Amino acid sequence: MSGTAAYDVIVVGAGNAALCAALSAREQGARVLVLEKASQEERGGNSTFTAGGFRFVHDGLDDLRRDVLVDLSEAEAARAYIPPLPAELYMHDLQKVTEGLAQEELAGLLIGRSRETVVWMRQQGVRFIPMFGRQSYLVNGKHHFYGGVNIEAVGGGWGLVDFLVKAAEKAGIEIRYDTGLRRLLQDRKGAVTGVTVFGPEGYEDIAARAVVLACGGFESNPEMRTRYLGPGWELCRVRGTRHNTGDGIRAALEIGAQAFGGWSTCHAVQWDISAPPYGDRVVLDNFQKHSYPLGIVVNLAGERFVDEGADFRNHTYAKYGREVMKQPQRTAVQIFDSQTIKMVRDEYRIRQVTKAEANSIEELATALDIDPVGLARTVQAYNAACQPGDYNPAILDGKRTEGISPPKSNWALPLNEPPYYGFVVTCGITFTFGGLRITTRGEVQDTSDRPIPGLYAAGELVGGIFYQNYLGGAGLMSGSVFGRLAGGSAAQHARAATALAAE
Ligand SMILES: Cc1cc2nc3c(=O)[nH]c(=O)nc-3n(C[C@H](O)[C@H](O)[C@H](O)COP(=O)(O)OP(=O)(O)OC[C@H]3O[C@@H](n4cnc5c(N)ncnc54)[C@H](O)[C@@H]3O)c2cc1C
Repeated sequence: MSGTAAYDVIVVGAGNAALCAALSAREQGARVLVLEKASQEERGGNSTFTAGGFRFVHDGLDDLRRDVLVDLSEAEAARAYIPPLPAELYMHDLQKVTEGLAQEELAGLLIGRSRETVVWMRQQGVRFIPMFGRQSYLVNGKHHFYGGVNIEAVGGGWGLVDFLVKAAEKAGIEIRYDTGLRRLLQDRKGAVTGVTVFGPEGYEDIAARAVVLACGGFESNPEMRTRYLGPGWELCRVRGTRHNTGDGIRAALEIGAQAFGGWSTCHAVQWDISAPPYGDRVVLDNFQKHSYPLGIVVNLAGERFVDEGADFRNHTYAKYGREVMKQPQRTAVQIFDSQTIKMVRDEYRIRQVTKAEANSIEELATALDIDPVGLARTVQAYNAACQPGDYNPAILDGKRTEGISPPKSNWALPLNEPPYYGFVVTCGITFTFGGLRITTRGEVQDTSDRPIPGLYAAGELVGGIFYQNYLGGAGLMSGSVFGRLAGGSAAQHARAATALAAE
């Protein structure tokens, strides 16, 4: 491709979605520039902070070993049971958690292209392994995987971003760090012709045939959080990058792009109360506390406020942070006893954890500033409500409570074997759901539904996939599917625009 613009495609951001877009555009022969607001040290956006877990359609372990888990040894394979994830189940689960609001066409693309996109990423150099540590329980000596997000990039989010950056550099893609998008440039016909950025030398206009926005949501912008998520949201912790401040969304809205998706909801989890305001690049996602289905969660009055066993943690964790946000002082405590503490995830064993241990519930309450009378009453009522049944944390075991509100619908073991353990959490936001409307080619649509020529989007800033709640492992998958799609479409658009200019 050639023409007056120095670049065919500019990709804004250097996280998973952006790097997939850049690689896909480059594959089609486009000259690609990646612009990243963060420094090289802080590169990778939220994608770096992830566990690198992907949810995609597959037919079980043997199928995965063909072209995704190609490095898995016989010994590892013999220790794992990974159930198939059919497209219908993926769609069912996505629509269930989003209250049926996920836009059909986008959800269909996400799911329908998930498997081929993971294989494509493997071809780009990303390596994958089963998530032995976090998404399986040992049952009769075998790792039984559950919940649909069972495969992670080797090295987690760091590994994922490293693989993708190396692939981009190898493909000759230029990445400019410390250079943030400020504005989109347009011609008189409304086609996007480049960007205005702010970098080390100040403002600069850079021309391109097409622009892909993949620079995240507005989770790190307290003003936008408060405006769209509601009062109090300026006070939550941010789990990942401090750089996703809604710049891409705002720049697109300024030129008439259509706002779409769940603008007043977000992905937010239970997050250690002592975590810093933004993500820590050493601790990463280990401030999260995701083993609550094994225990109970109470507020500082000692009252339960969610059904800890409503579903697999992959289906509830992303909405329970918002429930913690509503509690006094935005604080909650997860409680386990000696039966269940053995099963909690590794993130409970980090040095930076905020916890207490005690031989009685009253002592635990006092140590953690919970109302001791309230907590004792709650635990007594909960224990009395636990019904008999076979306990199995790897399946929805139906071992539930009866007669208390909220119920615990699965895994309801009485808390009666001291010592007791309490872990103090607050709300940590992961990413926002509101964003831009795109077509099935990844084109950003204007407020009259027309594609804005030359403008594409992928990743967190695409609206319409997640509403109210989220499905574990679908965020990275969405970034990869729509990044690949947007990058490919942008390269085709650039080629056509160049040909037209040459006529
Ligand atoms: C702690 C944590 C754990 C997670 N775990 C998982 C998981 O295991 N599986 C999963 O599927 N999802 C997970 N997620 C969600 C996942 O991170 C996101 O869905 C996904 O990474 C978003 O990718 P993205 O490329 O859209 O955004 P990002 O990876 O955040 O990339 C956006 C990039 O844009 C840059 N940027 C921002 N503004 C500008 C600008 N003006 N100009 C230029 N660049 C800009 C940012 O610096 C950043 O590098 C997790 C998130 C967090 C925070």
